[in-house]
Amino acid sequence: MEELELRKKNEEFIQRIKQQDPTFFDELKKGQTPEFFVLSCSDSRVSPSVITQMPLGHMFVHRNIANQVVTEDESFSASLYYALKHLKVKKIVIKGHTDCGGVKAAWLENDEQELQGWISRVRASLPDKSMTIEPVSLDELTKLNVLKQVERLMEHPIYKEYGTDIEVLGCLFHVESGELERVFPLEN
Ligand SMILES: [Zn+2]
Repeated sequence: MEELELRKKNEEFIQRIKQQDPTFFDELKKGQTPEFFVLSCSDSRVSPSVITQMPLGHMFVHRNIANQVVTEDESFSASLYYALKHLKVKKIVIKGHTDCGGVKAAWLENDEQELQGWISRVRASLPDKSMTIEPVSLDELTKLNVLKQVERLMEHPIYKEYGTDIEVLGCLFHVESGELERVFPLEN
C-alpha cells in the first residue's frame, strides 16, 4: 500500500465517520476514557480494535511480539501504569493468537541474532522443551503463552499497586476462523 493509498483510505474513513456522527471528532478531541487496556501481539492480522469492531477511544493498546508481559520492559510498564492510574480502565485484556510467529520462533529455536533478546523472553514464557514428554502443538503453546502473561501481569508491581480490583481477561484470537476465544478465566 503506497502512501497515497493510505491518504485516500484515511479520507474515506473521515467521511464515513462524519456521515454516521458529524460531531465524532469534536468529542474525540476532548480526551480518552477507554474501557480496556489491551496487550496484543504486533502481528498484522490481529489488530484488537479491528477484530472487535471497537471505535476509536475504547481501547488503550500495547503491542509487542508474542504479547509479552516483561516487568523490566519500561514501555509496557509505562502503558500499564498510565492505563490503570490515569485512564482508569475497567478491564485488562491479554490477547494472543494462533499461528504466532514469536511463539513459533521461540519454540523452534530461531537463531537470528537481532531477535535473540526478545525471543529469549518469549521462550521463558513457554514450557521447558527438554522437560515436555507429550508433543505440544503450536496452537496449544500460544494458549499457554497467554496464560503465562496473565500470571506475569498479576505479579507485576504496577498491577499489584493499581490494578488488583480490575478484571483481567486472557483471550486467544484464532486467525484461521476470526474467533476470539476466552482462555482466562475459564467459563464454568
Ligand atoms: Zn504473534
